[in-house]
Order: sequence, then C-alpha cells, then structure tokens
Amino acid sequence: MSYDRSQRFETRAIHAGQDPDPTTGAVITPIYQTSTFAQEEVGKHKGFDYSRSDNPTRSALQTALASLEDADWALAYASGLAGTQNVWYLLAPGDHMILSDDAYGGTYRLVSKVLARYGLEYTMVDLTDLDAVRAAVQPNTKMIWAETPTNPYLKIVDIAGMAEIAKGAGARLVIDNTFASPYLQKPLSLGADLVLHSTTKYLGGHSDVVGGAVIGNDPEVYDTLKFHQNAAGAVPAPFDSWLVLRGLKTLSVRMREHNRNAAKIVELLSNNPAVEQVYYPGLESHPGHEVAKRQMLNGFGGMVSFTTAGGYAAARKFVETTKVFTLAESLGGIESLIEHPGEMTHASMAGSGHEVADNLIRLSVGIEHIDDLVEDIEQALAAVAPAKATV
Ligand SMILES: *Cc1c(COP(=O)(O)O)cnc(C)c1O
Repeated sequence: MSYDRSQRFETRAIHAGQDPDPTTGAVITPIYQTSTFAQEEVGKHKGFDYSRSDNPTRSALQTALASLEDADWALAYASGLAGTQNVWYLLAPGDHMILSDDAYGGTYRLVSKVLARYGLEYTMVDLTDLDAVRAAVQPNTKMIWAETPTNPYLKIVDIAGMAEIAKGAGARLVIDNTFASPYLQKPLSLGADLVLHSTTKYLGGHSDVVGGAVIGNDPEVYDTLKFHQNAAGAVPAPFDSWLVLRGLKTLSVRMREHNRNAAKIVELLSNNPAVEQVYYPGLESHPGHEVAKRQMLNGFGGMVSFTTAGGYAAARKFVETTKVFTLAESLGGIESLIEHPGEMTHASMAGSGHEVADNLIRLSVGIEHIDDLVEDIEQALAAVAPAKATV
C-alpha cells in the first residue's frame, strides 16, 4: 500500500493508489466488476484470485484511505458497522471494552445485542471525563472505543489523553473518526492504534454509498483483520469502492464548505429564543472547545446539534418544517439533512439509560448556498417561536 508521502493531503486524495490503469491508460481507476481472475497456472496470478479476498478497485481505495490518515494500511468494508465488527474480532470472550455513553446507536446495538451474547464485556462511560475512564479500566480491558466529536452531542474526547490511559492499561485505542474525517483530525498521530470510518458519511460525501474502513499501522493487526475481512466476507462491491474513491477526491473542498456553513448556522441558532442550547465544538462556550482546538486541525466540521426551548413538540415540528434541510438519517453528504435522534438514529438507545433528550435536533449542514440554508432555518425557527408576551 505504498504512496508518495511527500505529497499533501489534497494531492493524495486524488492520486494515492490511483495511477493510470497500466493496461489501458485510463486516468480514473476502473470498476473491476469481476468476481474472479484468470490463473496462468494453479496459484499463479497477477495478485488477485477472487474478489472477496481482494479486488483492484478496492485495493486502490484502501491505499487512498491509508494515505489520508498518514497510515501504513487500510481495509475497506461493506459498511461502517462491518468494519466495527471486524475490529471486534481482535477481542475474545471475557475481554472487556470501554465505550462512550453516547456512542453511535448502531455501535451500541452491535455490542449490547450481538457481541454481549458471545461473552464480550463492556462499560459505557462519559469519555470526556478521563478520571471516569481510568476508574472503568479492569484487568481484562482490551479496548477503548471512542468517537470524537460524538454523536449526537458533539462531545470532544481528548485523543492523546485517552491514548495514554489505553497504553497504561495494555488496551488498544480505536477512534471512530467519522464525524471529523481525516481532513480535520488524524487520531493515529495522537496515539490511537486504529481508526474506524463509516465512509458512508464525509468520505463518500454524496449520500450514494454505504461503506466502512479500518486504518492503522501495526502489521500484525493488519494480518489479523485482513484474514477476518476475507473470512467473514463483509467487503465492499467494486462499484461502491469506486464511489468512495470518487468522493475522496473532493474531501478537502467539501470539508471547508461544511465548516463555513455550519459556523453560520451555529451563529444563527445561538441566542435565538426558540433554541435552548447549541452543541458545537467550535463554540467557545463548548466544554471541549480547548481540546477540539488542539486536535481538530482544520475546523470543527459540519455537524451541529441543538435543543428546542419548546420541548418535544417544538423539536418534532421543527424537523418537519424545514425544506432545504431534508428530514433523513445519516450525515456527511453534500446536501443538508435534519433529524430527530430520539426517534430516528438513536431510537435503539431506548430503555438503555443512555437515551438522548426528546427535544434534541441534529443537523448535517451541507454545502448548498448559505443564504438558502439560513432562510430555511429562520422560517423553521419562526414556526416554533415561543409566543410573544402581549403588552
Ligand atoms: C454511520 C456511523 C457508523 C456506522 O456506519 P454504517 O456505514 O452506517 O454502517 C459508525 N459510526 C458513526 C459515528 C456513524 O455516524
């Protein structure tokens, strides 16, 4: 998975792993839509024998992904959760994992409803509190799983601080870097052992593909995960790999627009009487702001959450009133999305003791013209504005 390490991020996003096709000169990596590859003699082939094991389009994607995290290797999967499951194959029954008390709903579902059945132990902790994490470490703790910024409260986890705790405990630190993307944040450089991405989000960037990736430097971990990628088989199709490759090329341009538009929307929501609280790591009042400034190198991203002053009814009305912001799950695409986490992305938290507030709204601010986004949020705010006191 070699690439030119002297090249900058923007250049790697376009070229790493994507030299012109050696047989035809095609500038863009072809979609190698084939399940199998011819062998000259038994076992003698050009590096590919069966597409579950490896496929040239996927291979190009893996090199490109590794380059963006300044890493030695990357493995691509059919979804972010398929990648998550693969990482958890590093654990054995009786092992213990620490994860965030506001982990991605699907991550929580996988650990609590599936992996727990196979004897994996876990503790959910507020990972912004490093003392609480130290206190949760057990002799059998083998992994700390953290997202930052978190979903949906945009809490900031101190990656370097967490890496130190993990090292002391003899555990691996895995950072779900989906919300930040490698353009904003490079967890491996801060001491994390592995990075997980749902490439469905910012890396794909166009809401037209589901995919995942695991990225790291340790060659033994690579061998284990590569074995399981093939053994369990949750690999991305050649076309899906191609879509993510295509998305990566514009990642830096898109992220700069997401940053800019989100900052404007945050400004609009702050101090509006219809809004109770805004959650955005770029706000100086955000408790994680100082850590975010240290570890997020190119801005604070496009995700914004807030609560409505009018409670659940206002939140429901708000998400059903916006027109440019489409009511939908997911995030990280060019288009703006809005959702109600309590009933949508985080519905699986119901009854867990880790439910999200029912007046919480999450925005994935897209890259449309900012004036259209502002007008849309303004009309929705007006629709849920608290009644004015009559004089
Ligand atoms: C979407 C998401 C996932 C899961 O990814 P899929 O591609 O939907 O399987 C994991 N972590 C975070 C933070 C996500 O947003």
